[in-house]
Amino acid sequence: MDLAFDRQHIWHPYTSTLTPLTCYPVTSAKGVYIELEDGKQLVDGMSSWWSTIHGYNHPVLNEAAHGQIDKVSHVMFGGMTHQPAIDLCKKLLKLAPSNLEHVFLADSGSVSVEVSLKMALQYWHAKGTPRSKFLTLRDGYHGDTFAAMSVTDPDNSMHSLYKGFLPEHIFAKSPQCGFWHEWHESDIDDFKHKISQHNDEIAAVILEPIVQGAGGMRIYHPEFLRRVRALCDEHNVLLILDEIATGFGRTGKLFACEHADVQPDILCLGKALTGGYMTLSATLASKNVADTVCGGEAGCFMHGPTFMGNPLACAVGSASLSLIEEENWQAQTNMIEHQFATRLPKLRQYSQVKDIRWLGAIGVVETHHPVNMEAIQALFVEQGVWIRPFGRLIYMMPPFISEQEHIGKLVDAIEIALQTEDCFQS
Ligand code: PMP
Repeated sequence: MDLAFDRQHIWHPYTSTLTPLTCYPVTSAKGVYIELEDGKQLVDGMSSWWSTIHGYNHPVLNEAAHGQIDKVSHVMFGGMTHQPAIDLCKKLLKLAPSNLEHVFLADSGSVSVEVSLKMALQYWHAKGTPRSKFLTLRDGYHGDTFAAMSVTDPDNSMHSLYKGFLPEHIFAKSPQCGFWHEWHESDIDDFKHKISQHNDEIAAVILEPIVQGAGGMRIYHPEFLRRVRALCDEHNVLLILDEIATGFGRTGKLFACEHADVQPDILCLGKALTGGYMTLSATLASKNVADTVCGGEAGCFMHGPTFMGNPLACAVGSASLSLIEEENWQAQTNMIEHQFATRLPKLRQYSQVKDIRWLGAIGVVETHHPVNMEAIQALFVEQGVWIRPFGRLIYMMPPFISEQEHIGKLVDAIEIALQTEDCFQS
């Protein structure tokens, strides 16, 4: 592969063009293995950023893609529809929280967040009482487009760079009580204060249920989410749950909101929706939200991307949801959680470790110092695993089909890294 070209001309995520980090050339992938150009096989610990839950090159998903490509890969969704979209949306509505009745298909997770925020704005406009603020949490992450970024943690997403352009919203303190810890009533104080102070300006609360992902891999107490739902009801504010990362079994429940037994007014889904095959998102809304939005001045929801409902993506998404319906994802994520529970606590013995936490098929090792990306990545590849840390977080979200030996290999590699000084900045 022409890696020199890649290095000189291709931008990779959050990477400098001046001093690019090494990029490893991938030629194929199957199951939990990613194959590099030199033939080396890496055990995947990332599910390509939460998406490839069934593993790579899955025969059922391949068949769905091949079958659809020979019929029609894309057709506009304005004024037309097709079986893959109908199949996908039927399955989604069957699996999702029961109050959600309408599905809006779009391109990516960030776009789903944009869509959800626009729905909330249009909802209040249609009611004749426009509201333009969103309440969210510190340490959250909702995507890289502007509206999504405006509700993402201001420090992590460097709001300072876009000052004057980026809308300013309201941030409450992130939850401090961990999932497995005791609940302290004071955890909700700041949120409660902010929602009651600004209730008639707030169109919606948006947050990631139970796991704050890219903003810090924080796993918080379900009671926080229960309180949020109750406060939204009390103050007549919509609740948008961003399950783009947590949806489809990752936390050990099909949707993370099930840990707290709450239902959102609007739900954002993406990533694993197509089993990680291609980009697609779905924004689900309650009947009240959809009817109100469409009963307003505009008479419809004002959004309609070119690739809305792309048949190829819908066909694969529909096949992925069938796998979820048929396969034993619950037993698989239980097994992975059990492996994390057995193996991760032992890592506390290393001085570099600040905290460890896990839930479902998510395992996190937080370190005292930020990783040295080039060195730790090279070490992981040498150890035959693919784990991509950021900052002080080494985290795993392996495909659900991973077996005990694969999880063992991932944790072994992390253990070696924790004992290697070069892997961390001082
Ligand atoms: N919300 C959450 C919770 C996410 O984790 C992400 C992606 N990391 C997004 C939104 C944005 O999704 P995408 O990268 O597909 O735009």
